[in-house]
Amino acid sequence: LFDTAFLRQRIRTVADWPSPGIQFRDITPLLQDPRAFRLLVEAFVLRYMNAGIDLVAGIDARGFILGSVVAHQLNRGFIPVRKKGKLPFATVAEEYELEYGNATVEIHTDAVAAGQRVLLIDDLIATGGTMMAAARLLQRLEATVVEAAAIVDLPELGGSKLLKDAGLPVFTVCDFA
Ligand code: 5GP
Repeated sequence: LFDTAFLRQRIRTVADWPSPGIQFRDITPLLQDPRAFRLLVEAFVLRYMNAGIDLVAGIDARGFILGSVVAHQLNRGFIPVRKKGKLPFATVAEEYELEYGNATVEIHTDAVAAGQRVLLIDDLIATGGTMMAAARLLQRLEATVVEAAAIVDLPELGGSKLLKDAGLPVFTVCDFA
């Protein structure tokens, strides 16, 4: 339907960042190119325009960039899934495990109403821990997560499979082995 190779080419791989042995997939060149950024947004808008989405949730911080533009283009509201301690009002929190230690994501308790259909967006799925924790937050507030969507999947890390096995539909534009 659209040229995923064009987008994939604009993702830069940075070796040994943020730590030795990590191949970081950097989406900033994609965002910087207006044609690529527009194509990316259009891919998401076409996929979800008739999907009965009530709200778009973006994950802190790179998920905010794509998520907010997609929400705006779909004429829907945007809700931020934030790292611990950033949101001022009452929150629900979910802790999840990282390679070393753990992390917590939060949303406001009034971010979604029971029964609302939410599209969850981040830049990348690695182990799936972040996306899964964000989905659990929304589900605890009785929202339906329509799909967990990202630009990049790293299938070898098993995150997209983990999410699918948990019953969450997953959409990504490209993957890197
Ligand atoms: P996971 O929780 O799936 O293991 O990791 C995904 C989260 O970590 C996402 O929020 C994503 O922004 C970040 N992340 C992990 N590795 C990369 C990477 O190589 N590139 C980018 N852009 N983000 C990454």
